[in-house]
Amino acid sequence: MNIIFVGPPGAGKGTQAVEICKAKGIPQISTGDILRKAIKEGTETGLKAKAFVEAGQLVPDDVLIGIIKDRLAQSDCADGYILDGFPRTVPQAEALEGIAKIDVVIELDVPDDVLVDRLSGRRVCPGCGATYHVSMLGGETKCAACGAELIVRKDDMPETVLNRLKVYHAQTAPLVSFYEKKGTLRKIDGTSGVSEIFKAIMNALEA
Ligand code: AMP
Repeated sequence: MNIIFVGPPGAGKGTQAVEICKAKGIPQISTGDILRKAIKEGTETGLKAKAFVEAGQLVPDDVLIGIIKDRLAQSDCADGYILDGFPRTVPQAEALEGIAKIDVVIELDVPDDVLVDRLSGRRVCPGCGATYHVSMLGGETKCAACGAELIVRKDDMPETVLNRLKVYHAQTAPLVSFYEKKGTLRKIDGTSGVSEIFKAIMNALEA
């Protein structure tokens, strides 16, 4: 099954994608993770993407379409995948039509005030990629999984968070009606607990 997760930054796409991929035995393809890795490694793609990512702007469509084309051609995608963070614009969605057949689009719906709190309180591990929220850390500054010092992602800084939400509403929200018209969209309330949201997504995928 080929699945897209769409929703604003902080909606929980990454968290849920990991769990659904485990349950379904398919890979999670996060364009944000691919770009962050490329930036860290200083590849050509990373150099092109760095300034956009750090400012909370979208990286140009042609860069992303190239990344996805290469990734979906790999053998682990043969039995399905979850696209987490792609497409993010209507031109990306149109390009994807020529690359893959998408079965279901899961929209995680979360109001802006909840998103601002989630993103500005997010702490990530630069070592293993684990994600935390300050409210659950009780002052702890190290990763429970690998012991590395937790950091704030550059694009989770307050002014960049507001910019990312603005970018989402202007450029990514139109995808909802794009997929609604195709009949593949399933809307999920993303404000409840992680396990409730997981169950709702699994039900939507089986419906
Ligand atoms: P994410 O981890 O999905 O929030 O992505 C982090 C950042 O990577 C975004 O704010 C964008 O700068 C960039 N990015 C990720 N996916 C895309 C995409 N599909 N199109 C353009 N930029 C993207």
